[in-house]
Amino acid sequence: MSSQLIDGIDIFDSERIKELIRNNEFVKSKTILLQVLNIIESYALETGEGVTSGYYEKLFTVYNKLKDKKSAKNILLRYLIQPKARGKSARKIYERYLKLNPTLDESAVQKDIYDKYLANLDKTNLIGTRIECEHCHKLGIYLLPKNYIHGSMFIAICPFCFEETLVGLK
Ligand SMILES: [Zn+2]
Repeated sequence: MSSQLIDGIDIFDSERIKELIRNNEFVKSKTILLQVLNIIESYALETGEGVTSGYYEKLFTVYNKLKDKKSAKNILLRYLIQPKARGKSARKIYERYLKLNPTLDESAVQKDIYDKYLANLDKTNLIGTRIECEHCHKLGIYLLPKNYIHGSMFIAICPFCFEETLVGLK
């Protein structure tokens, strides 16, 4: 992933971004974080290596500080519809997103996220595989990474329940 500077700040300098947020420089931190998301999302669709949640969580904080509740909620959704790196944070973000949608039942929220996830996957040239999640048993499409070796298995995040599940071609 190629880095770049905005106002002399390396956009991938996580510590520097935290410092901006601490100093209430929300507009600048928002500009930087949005640019970071564009880059990591393109990279994820190009390589199949999922995005990590950190930059989305920082942007969530920034939108909350700006009292922009709608954008805060949308940034969680934006994370949830990406191919995601393994880890426990996906489930936590999903639970946070559910709390922000108290009027909808969970299956409606899941359907909306999954439809948007599929639309997002339309932008990749990578191959997808359909696998049943070990936790919720729903059939979902998962991207096979660019360097995927046929027969190998890897951990991915279920696009319905956001738990880790095993994926691969047998
Ligand atoms: Zn699942």
